[in-house]
Amino acid sequence: RRLAGGLVLVLITGLLQIARFHITPAFPADAFAPSQVWLAMVACLFLFVAGLAIAGPGRAVSRRVAAALVITVGLFVTHLLMLGALDPTVLAEASTQAIQTGPESQLVVMVMMLSILIICGGLAAAYLDDVQSVTTVMRLRRLADAAREGIVVVKRGRINDANAFFCTLVGEPAHALSGRSLLGDLLRLEGVEGDALPLGEHEGLLHPSDGAEPVPVQVFVGDSAEESAGENLTIVSLRDLRAQRAAEKHIEYLADHDPLTGLPNRRALNLRLEQEIARQHRTRNRIWVVSLNLDRFTLVNDLYGQATGDAMLVEVARRIRDFIGEGDLAARLGGDEFVIARTAEPGQTNVALAEWTHFLMSAIRAPMTLLGRELETGVSAGVSLYPEDGSDADRLILSADIALRRAKERGRNGYCFFEPDMDEKVRDRRALSRDLREALALGQLEVFYQPIARAEDQKICGFEALTRWRHPERGMVPPDLFIPMAEEEGLILELGDWVLRAAALEAATWPQDISISVNLSPMQLTQPDLADKVRQTLFETGLAPRRLVLEVTETALITDQQAALDALRRLKAMGARIAMDDFGTGFSSLSTLHSFPFDKIKIDKQFIDGIGRHDRSSVIVRAVLGIGRGLGVPVVAEGVETAEQLAYLRDEGCDELQGYFIGRPAPASTFDDVLKPAQAPDASAKVA
Ligand code: C2E
Ligand code: CA
Ligand code: CA
Repeated sequence: RRLAGGLVLVLITGLLQIARFHITPAFPADAFAPSQVWLAMVACLFLFVAGLAIAGPGRAVSRRVAAALVITVGLFVTHLLMLGALDPTVLAEASTQAIQTGPESQLVVMVMMLSILIICGGLAAAYLDDVQSVTTVMRLRRLADAAREGIVVVKRGRINDANAFFCTLVGEPAHALSGRSLLGDLLRLEGVEGDALPLGEHEGLLHPSDGAEPVPVQVFVGDSAEESAGENLTIVSLRDLRAQRAAEKHIEYLADHDPLTGLPNRRALNLRLEQEIARQHRTRNRIWVVSLNLDRFTLVNDLYGQATGDAMLVEVARRIRDFIGEGDLAARLGGDEFVIARTAEPGQTNVALAEWTHFLMSAIRAPMTLLGRELETGVSAGVSLYPEDGSDADRLILSADIALRRAKERGRNGYCFFEPDMDEKVRDRRALSRDLREALALGQLEVFYQPIARAEDQKICGFEALTRWRHPERGMVPPDLFIPMAEEEGLILELGDWVLRAAALEAATWPQDISISVNLSPMQLTQPDLADKVRQTLFETGLAPRRLVLEVTETALITDQQAALDALRRLKAMGARIAMDDFGTGFSSLSTLHSFPFDKIKIDKQFIDGIGRHDRSSVIVRAVLGIGRGLGVPVVAEGVETAEQLAYLRDEGCDELQGYFIGRPAPASTFDDVLKPAQAPDASAKVA
């Protein structure tokens, strides 16, 4: 571009020179020595290009003056050289002619005007260029200031210029920043030593001058924009990473915490417990893992609503957090399950742990006000110890859970330490419950029947259906074991339906005066369709409703009394009879008896067992018999094993007897003589 500029100038100058000499008629074309003219042109070109080069793109005054001088010299030299190119004789002649005729005024004016025009054009162009570059600079400045990134122009490691955002980041105005070194002073880049800004992308920390928190930044160091000018400028842009870091932190927090209570979650607990185990592996300090569970928490949700349940969990979490110490871990694993891990100080005993657990539980049990309601909750706990009860986090938490389950089985609101045989029992139980599911599907269950006799003449008047499980490997599994298991696993409904159908089918083939008693589990009583199911079964098997006795225990009436009573009423309305089973073993047998018109009362065998041995038992039995008589409800004695018991019961006016003395539970075929009375002789003759 400079060469082209120089050429244009040379051309103009040359034209002027030629015009200057040529148009004068005194100078014929051959008056110039061509070699000299060329020399003048080349010299002119050289000096003009040099002048333009010195001027450069910058705006420094000294450069401009120097450039003007060189170009002026160029003009002067060209002029002299052109004069030299002219034939001296022609020149002399021209001079005399000029003196004679005077200057060609017309020509002089033309040349002057042309020169002035060129100068004016140049000045106008320069002015326009200046105006334009000023507005461009301002526009760029505004653009840079509007950016949400810090932009810094660095010259030889020092700040030359910075945009508004960078100034806010650093907390200083641009003029105060100018001249300060960027790297080291304000900015530190990860993995970058020394004070040279490396090109490319980096991460680092920007240290504001006012001593505020360092700002994490992403830094991009760009190529020098004006390298050709030899100024070596570097453009550095910086992105504030604080918002991004905060978002990342929040995501990390969510991944590690339970959003409701803010306690760490299972993932975080596992991780930190593993770390603690690794640490204590060397020091051999024990770690206590306490698994906590609120008693009947679902009831809180059901009775007072989810919001109250949530508030209770938040409050419990707060109490746990307040109670535990600095180094302890507390986590919520979901629902109402909390786990606390605490590293014991050297020499701390299990007694200390038991005490600590006890106080923690008391803190949770204290009354709380939730959404304007005063509530309390029970809490159970299981405790496992590192290293005895597990060598990793999962195992320790599992052990604590097993101990917790035991604590719940023992009647809640207490705590239990893990013991190795619990684990076996749990595993055994789990295997058995899996088998039970299969047994139900494969029909491995059977029904045994135990006779019930009239006390006065010991004539059999009914049977109780009792389920038996013939396990292919374990042999007979007692109902006391598998019935509670079926209740827990939710299999009891299926099992109950099956027993009822099997017993009804069997009893339908018996003589009309023999009844069949079937046990109902509490959960069956809460099913709204129980009465319909019973009616359907009776209809399908052809058993008269009057012959069916349904035995219920007091516990069935505790869980949801209203629903249970409704179900019993419907069953009774259909014609079935309802017996109160295990009378005397519950907490409020009398009030249960009061709440529903039972058709039968079965005195529990523990009272019958004491007849003749404990005065108290005999008195209680006599009293119950009195109640039955008073209410007009027949009483059945369970567990009659001796003739003495039988005599006592008969003498006291007991209505019916059940027990080994009358007969053990057995398959129905055992009682064929009672149930399938010998066919009439003429009938057998017919068959013959
Ligand atoms: P339950 O209803 O009180 O049944 C009476 C239990 O006492 C039976 O035990 C029976 O074998 C036993 N028994 C009867 N006479 C005597 C005796 O003279 N001496 C002694 N020591 N025991 C006697 P079983 O069959 O082991 O059943 C235990 C419990 O299992 C039953 O107690 C009942 O609550 C439950 N159960 C059994 N079958 C079913 C069923 O099909 N459904 C439901 N829901 N529960 C059942
Ligand atoms: Ca029973
Ligand atoms: Ca019973």
